[in-house]
This record gives sequence, structure tokens and C-alpha cells, in this order.
Amino acid sequence: MRPNLHPRLINGRFGDPGLFVEMLHRRGALLVDLGDLSPLSPRDLLRVTHVLVTHMHMDHFIGFDALLRVSVGRDKTIRMAGPRGLATRVHHKLLGYEWDLVDRYDSDLVFEVTELHEGGRTRFARFRFKRRFAREDERNGEACGGMVGEGDGFRIRAALLEHHGPCLGFAVAEPAHANVWKNRLAERGLAAGPWLQALKRAVIEGRPDDWPVALPDGTAGTLGSLRELVTIGEGQKIAYVTDVADTPANREAIARLAAGADLLFIEGSFAAEDAAQARLRAHLTTRAAGEIARAAGARRVEPFHFSPRYEGEEARMIAEVEAAFRGGA
Ligand SMILES: [Zn+2]
Repeated sequence: MRPNLHPRLINGRFGDPGLFVEMLHRRGALLVDLGDLSPLSPRDLLRVTHVLVTHMHMDHFIGFDALLRVSVGRDKTIRMAGPRGLATRVHHKLLGYEWDLVDRYDSDLVFEVTELHEGGRTRFARFRFKRRFAREDERNGEACGGMVGEGDGFRIRAALLEHHGPCLGFAVAEPAHANVWKNRLAERGLAAGPWLQALKRAVIEGRPDDWPVALPDGTAGTLGSLRELVTIGEGQKIAYVTDVADTPANREAIARLAAGADLLFIEGSFAAEDAAQARLRAHLTTRAAGEIARAAGARRVEPFHFSPRYEGEEARMIAEVEAAFRGGA
């Protein structure tokens, strides 16, 4: 599978947590957490269409201003998702400036904020530059299957986790896609055309063999006789989890969120031997990070948010995560 999603840690494994996700052949980009964004260029920041915030501790939120600074004066909508209180915090940030000159601009900058609350409920609010970022369009909703957003070629799911307060974990995934074998199509003398869309959809939706599919000559075929024309490619999936306590409920929720992920970014703030410290701070150890990645069935694990006390010991921290991920053998 050729990966479409290209994530990179903004500040390495020791700096403020944050992920910048680019997409192949697409202009848009995602930001996960808004800590120190200074390694990103204005050009990078201008590409951001979606921002996911785990929680609003300073090292995860202080970068909002950097994003705001480059975005003002642009016609742009930035969709944000985060835990309870995100909309209020965004609003407070925006109210920190004087917006008396908005009438001189034709462009509008819009922040659309979705909070995920308990029980899969959501709370939405919008803030528009042209309205001096007044709070608008507040409404309640529901996150079906934890889905808190989607964009061109990806869907975002969140899980409500526990740090000192609520903290969200995120998974960004491409939907499964179907591909048609052109050679098999030709062998059977079938023309390409819009009918293939219906065939692909039927395969992705798992329809039965007797499901009718209209053929290009107008006659009806069955899915069973056409199935061999299509292969399904699982979409790529990236998960991101940080600032969570090592509790059974968190472990279970993370494993579910990150199930089968190609890549799991997960905090390993403390070394395995410092589990008592980790518990006190509601963070994970390297070992817990590896065990959770293993339970999720992730293909690869990328630990980060290492505490500065382990500066110079990056290799050891990674080795501890990997050992637990491989089964501690
Ligand atoms: Zn943190």
C-alpha cells in the first residue's frame, strides 16, 4: 500500500507534543495538538484545514496564536475538535486581540469547533473573523462511532480518555477503497464506466452475491459474478494518544481507537522503572505505551512526549517501548 497520510512529529520526541500530517497530492494538512509550532513554516500552517486538540494544557495549546497569526486575512475554514471546554478556550484566545479593522477585509476566517463530551455527545460552535469572532451557531449533536470530523480522503475519530481531566485520543483514517482490475474487465469484454462505481460501492458495503448490479449494456448482473473484478484496499490509519493515565479504562479505549493502526503515536513520558512517577502525573511509561500498542494490534509504534529528565536516553526509552510492543521477550 502506498501511504497517502504522511505524519511527522513537530518537535521530536522530547519537545511539545504535536503532529503535522500531510496528504499525498492534496493541499490540506492536519495538526494534532497546538504546542510549540515554530518548526512549521507559514506555508505549512496555511495548509492546515483540521486541528485536533487532546486537551488544553499549555504544551498542547499555546501554538494557537501562531496558527491564527498566519491565517488572519485569508478566506479559510479551520475545523477543530477537542474535549469539553475547547470552544470556550478558543473563544478566550480570540478575544485576546482587538478586531476593530475587520471591515477592511473581504476575506473571512472561520473556526468551527466540535467538542466531544461524555456518551458520544458533541457540542458545536463557530467563530467568524467578520463577526469579530463572536460565538455563533451553538448546537448539540452526536459523534456517530466517535467520528468528530472528516475531510477530503480521511475521517477523524476520537476517544474520550482520562488525564487529570478529559483528554482525547485521535485516529485519522482513510476510508477503505475499491480498485478495479482493468485486465479482468477487458478479458470479460466489459466497458469501463459509471456502473463500476455502483459495483465498487456494493463490494465495500459487503453486499451479498445476489445483489443486482446494472451492466453497461443495460442488463442486470449479480455481485457474485462480478466480485472478481474488484479488490479492496484498507485505508491507512494513524492514531495519536498522549497525556493519559494508565488505567484499565484508558487502555481499553485506546486499544479500540487504535485497532489495526498502521502507525500509533503514543506518549511514553516515563521510563519503565519510574512507574510510580508516571502514576502520580497521570502519564504512561514506555512499557505501558508498548503494551497498549501491542494490544491495539498496531503495525508500528512511535513513542514521544518523553520527559526532559531522560534527555540523552532516547535510545533506551525507545528500546523499552519496543520490547513491550514485541512482547517483552
Ligand atoms: Zn502534555
